[in-house]
Amino acid sequence: MANRKYIVGNWKMNGLNDQLSDIADIASIAANHPSVDAAICPPVTLIASAVSQNAAFSIGAQDCHFNEKGAHTGCVSAAMIKQAGASFSILGHSERRADQHETDADVKAKAEAVHANGLGAIICVGETEEERDAGQAVDVVCGQLQGSFPNGADAKWLTIAYEPVWAIGTGRVPEAADVEEMHAAIRQKLGELMGDGADAVRILYGGSMNGGNAAELLAVPNVDGGLVGGASLTAEKFGPIIEAAA
Ligand code: PGA
Repeated sequence: MANRKYIVGNWKMNGLNDQLSDIADIASIAANHPSVDAAICPPVTLIASAVSQNAAFSIGAQDCHFNEKGAHTGCVSAAMIKQAGASFSILGHSERRADQHETDADVKAKAEAVHANGLGAIICVGETEEERDAGQAVDVVCGQLQGSFPNGADAKWLTIAYEPVWAIGTGRVPEAADVEEMHAAIRQKLGELMGDGADAVRILYGGSMNGGNAAELLAVPNVDGGLVGGASLTAEKFGPIIEAAA
């Protein structure tokens, strides 16, 4: 049986209070498409307001620390994002792996921390353009998946996002055949890592998804949804992606 489609907006470092109305508009489009699981991950500063204004809509975080508390200036814990109202967190986004030097081991520890707090995790993996050109894309991505894979993984709380680094924010999207090859490889790797439960783990595609290309990408075998950056910031852009998944 096909997995329910999951469309997640990653607002990155975008969003002040006046953009809360965009989340409300997106939430009402999502409410009209109950066959799709939709969510927005605003900056951490907007989580509590977004949750209180949109009770039925899923709000996530973009990151959290793997420790429970302590001397980590500027960081937030899984318990903190949970208390703010987030129901899950994106983890190991390539921008954090690059800018904050997050390792696979960090991402694994973060996933275990969010699970310990009853939250879901979306673990991001993806190759650079150099790695793809060198024919290493599948090995790199499966290596990241293995290294980032949390103990106790279960489809009830774990999602994987395949995001080729060179497709993020560039307007470039891989060929459908390349997306299919990678998602099949991730599915197979999940089977090795967790056995029977692997088929129910949703694998999202991310990288320049928009209203024009979503239907084609979402029709690729083993693509169970999308992780969307730029095209998630307004209902006008994000609505068509939710509709394409319905
Ligand atoms: P993009 O970002 O849709 O703007 O390419 C996707 C992401 O980084 O999650």
